[in-house]
Amino acid sequence: MEKHTLHIDYLVFETKDALPEADRTLLEQAFVAKGGSHAPYSKFNVGAALLLENGEIIRGSNQENASYPLGFCAERTAFSAAVALFPEEKIRALAITASTILSKVDSPVAPCGICRQVILEAEFKHHQNIKVILSGETGKVFVFNTVKDLLPLFFDAEFL
Ligand SMILES: [Zn+2]
Repeated sequence: MEKHTLHIDYLVFETKDALPEADRTLLEQAFVAKGGSHAPYSKFNVGAALLLENGEIIRGSNQENASYPLGFCAERTAFSAAVALFPEEKIRALAITASTILSKVDSPVAPCGICRQVILEAEFKHHQNIKVILSGETGKVFVFNTVKDLLPLFFDAEFL
C-alpha cells in the first residue's frame, strides 16, 4: 500500500474587488443572474455566468420545481443556454455566487458534483480548461484554473 496526496493550487482573493477586471466583471454578471433564481423551496439563490471565447457572457440561475428532482442548478442552466445559443463556442470561465434569506453567505459556494461533471465535459469537448470563480455574497473569492481541480479523480474521456 502507498499513501498518495492530492495537491490543488488555487488563488484566494480577499474580496471580489481584488479580482482582475475580467474576472470581476464575470462575477458581477453572476450576481445579476442570481436575480433570476427561482428557489422557493431551498431559499438558496444561485447565479452563474459563463464567458465564451467570442466574448459573450451567458447567465444562468437555479430553477427549482415542486417535484424536487426536476430542478436545475444555475451552472447547468447557463451551460444549456450557452450550447443552445453558441454550440461551437469554447467556454473560457465560469463564475458562481449565491445568497439566502436564511443567513449571510460569506464564503465561496462550489458547484455540486453533477455540475462539476458537466463543466468537465465542456473542457473535454473543446480541449480547453475552464477557469472557475467561486464567491459568496461577500468575503473571499476562490479561483481555479480548471474544474479538474474540483473533480480530481475524473474519468478521462480523452482515452475513449
Ligand atoms: Zn449543480
